[in-house]
Amino acid sequence: MAVYLDHAATTPILEDIAKEIYQAMLDCNGNPSSTHQYGRLSRTKIESARAEIAHILGASTGEIFFTSCATEANNMILNRAPIDLGVARIISSPLEHHCILHTLERLEHEQGIEVVLLDVNHEGRVNIESLEELLPSNKKTLVSLMHVNNELGNVLDLERVAALCNEGAAYFHTDAAQGVGKFAYNLETLGAHFLTASGHKFHAPKGIGFMYMRHDAQLKPWLTGGAQERNIRSGTENLHGIIGIHKAMMQAYDHLDDRVTHLQQIKSHLKKELRDRFDDIMFNGTENSQSPHILSVSFPPSAKNDMLDMLLDMDGILVSGGSACSSGSVKASHVLEAIGSPSDRKTIRFSFSHVTQMDEINKTVQALENILLG
Ligand code: PLP
Repeated sequence: MAVYLDHAATTPILEDIAKEIYQAMLDCNGNPSSTHQYGRLSRTKIESARAEIAHILGASTGEIFFTSCATEANNMILNRAPIDLGVARIISSPLEHHCILHTLERLEHEQGIEVVLLDVNHEGRVNIESLEELLPSNKKTLVSLMHVNNELGNVLDLERVAALCNEGAAYFHTDAAQGVGKFAYNLETLGAHFLTASGHKFHAPKGIGFMYMRHDAQLKPWLTGGAQERNIRSGTENLHGIIGIHKAMMQAYDHLDDRVTHLQQIKSHLKKELRDRFDDIMFNGTENSQSPHILSVSFPPSAKNDMLDMLLDMDGILVSGGSACSSGSVKASHVLEAIGSPSDRKTIRFSFSHVTQMDEINKTVQALENILLG
């Protein structure tokens, strides 16, 4: 079995979650919009998932909407906010996921929405203090900042940003695709208007996510059709995906403290081993305010750097190599570029989940030694 340290990209579906979905695929197949008993059974599963997810996050049931993924939920918020909420300016950062940045580019070019990207420093800390100068404004504003950065592991101070947005009369959206399942939220008190999440980041299947939309920040239908999801997002619901994300959420929050403690131990062990064994190792991201599931490591210049992730792969260690492959071409990461990461160094992102074992970390360090020092 390979050592899988790419949990920020996606997580495996846990066996008991897969079993529950499989059983539901055999037993529960009615269209949730049908009024007969098969339909009602499916509807019950969806609504109990919605209610429990809302409860875990301190939201009301009517504020949770299932989507196909975080990308869809983020697109929906950014695209609809100018139309439905009169947003004329969106403040974000250059470190956001492409589903935010590419959407902002389009909104700017096609609809003339003003886009402001906040400065970031070499650690990837977003200059949220500048919100004090930018807000309030006579242009209705949406602030869209991710909770946990998927490449660096940096954690945004959500409470502070929400307070600044509320003082400055701006809407606040946070992409929490990397945060949900690892952090506790109380959306009732937080002050965010929108939050998005993705099931496959915390052991649910791919193709299911959700959006929190606060009762006083109502968007109009994003997909029109059969009026599912309270008419916001039509299309027959991904019933089995919803059953999966429901179970994954329950497990994540029932065991949150244990999982986080385990992640912290894994991450600090890897950090220590790397520091002890390699010269000139650096860690990307902020020193404090880090998520326990991501460690972004900057290796010093070496002839092996270009192939490091591939050589690790050949040794059965699966990581992310600080670049993204889209449509077949490998591009340097926009996040590493934005923080001015030196191009002669090599970044590897190691990311973990509660299933990651200490001996997998030891194997990884050994493989790195063999490749870089052997
Ligand atoms: N936002 C962040 C921060 C992510 O890490 C990801 C996935 O990598 C996404 C959004 C997109 O999530 P999905 O795969 O559910 O569309």
